[in-house]
Amino acid sequence: MRLSQSLTKPLRERPAEADSANAAYLIQGGFIDQLGAGIYNLLPFGWRVYRKVAQIIREEMDALGAQELNLAALHPTGPWKASGRWDDPEVRDVMYQFKDQRGKDYGLGFTHEEIAAQLAKPHIQSYRDLPQAFYQIQVKFRNEPRAKSGVLRGREFMMKDLYSFHADEADRDAYYDRVLKAYPKIFKRLGLDALTVEASGGVFTKYSHEFQVLAGSGEDTVHYTEDGSFAQNDEIFDEKNVPKDAKNLKKSSAIEVGNIFKLGKRFPEAAGVAFLDKQGNRQVPEMCSYGIGPTRCIGTVVETSHDDNGIIWPAAIAPFAVHIVALGDDADVTKAADKLYADLEQAGVEVLYDDRDESAGVKFNDADLVGIPQRVTVSKKTLEKQSAELKRRDGKKVELVELGTITKKLTS
Ligand code: ATP
Ligand code: MG
Repeated sequence: MRLSQSLTKPLRERPAEADSANAAYLIQGGFIDQLGAGIYNLLPFGWRVYRKVAQIIREEMDALGAQELNLAALHPTGPWKASGRWDDPEVRDVMYQFKDQRGKDYGLGFTHEEIAAQLAKPHIQSYRDLPQAFYQIQVKFRNEPRAKSGVLRGREFMMKDLYSFHADEADRDAYYDRVLKAYPKIFKRLGLDALTVEASGGVFTKYSHEFQVLAGSGEDTVHYTEDGSFAQNDEIFDEKNVPKDAKNLKKSSAIEVGNIFKLGKRFPEAAGVAFLDKQGNRQVPEMCSYGIGPTRCIGTVVETSHDDNGIIWPAAIAPFAVHIVALGDDADVTKAADKLYADLEQAGVEVLYDDRDESAGVKFNDADLVGIPQRVTVSKKTLEKQSAELKRRDGKKVELVELGTITKKLTS
């Protein structure tokens, strides 16, 4: 992508209204813009990052044998009345509920347990139809009373939600354990170090597991030991539960990036899901749900991976792999940078090419802000040595590399 042709260019100023590092850098870098309180557009750079995050999650869901689908976001009341949640005051607090032009009630999905259970009903008739697992990566709506901290808490945001159905508790527990173990791997691939934390089951069950990334800007508080043997959300934490041999108990604020629940039979029962077991007896399946917030994950990466100049994207989710900076309007520089851009694109590398008529200072500042892992600078000076300067955004390495070998170096 030539930056001169990009829809968005990095903004000169940090947005004054930004209340967090992720809002400041994502808006200034041109990844997102704010349409309203807790409502953001994902712009081309932001959408690139989002697609990579979604793809990593998708690969791990597929590896769990789950099937991807897309559930409707606009919900008639039927499934919600059947579960009793339409009129639940806690639900009414967050769910957008409204009447259409003909006076009919609708809601916008803030989660999809009811819809998943209803959808499963005709497909789960016999023990042979179980287990089942399906997921979506889709928009959710929540009327968050305090929409804040950029994409960490939006009123419209993305969620990956996986639902599973099982013939018995043993099968449910085995699958839940697989997901429990897969989640930290997903976050690691996204560049996040997430603690697995015991938490309240909310309206569903006694306990659930949350995945929490330690960060000063987090709204949650977790108690944990360095060795990972104990971690609990402050909501359920009690000194008495801490194992006697737990060493160095710590307390930190943290961002919840995922949450998984064993839901029991409540939603399948309400939706009338039932199957015949091997003996021909009618049974209601066990259900679980497993969430991750891809947009919150993006915000969390920015919160935990930035410096005073901007974002430091992990390679796996960076909007581009390489940022070419061409300095000055010398014809040889333009020619060399154009060729490098063409060669890298040809080799399948995602490149942002700063070909604008801007000063070196502006271009370097923007490169730091946008946070692409590798920066390649071509100038009259580097061309004297038939080279370009290669610099990693994480600051670990600056080197002069011969023009002829750069593509190979960046693709090997
Ligand atoms: P919180 O306690 O932070 O409000 P939650 O426990 O209500 O979150 P879940 O219902 O567990 O959230 O949703 C699953 C995942 O969706 C969360 O772990 C989080 O990553 C993401 N998520 C939830 N609410 C939001 C939001 N308002 N904006 C962005 N992501 C969200
Ligand atoms: Mg949660």
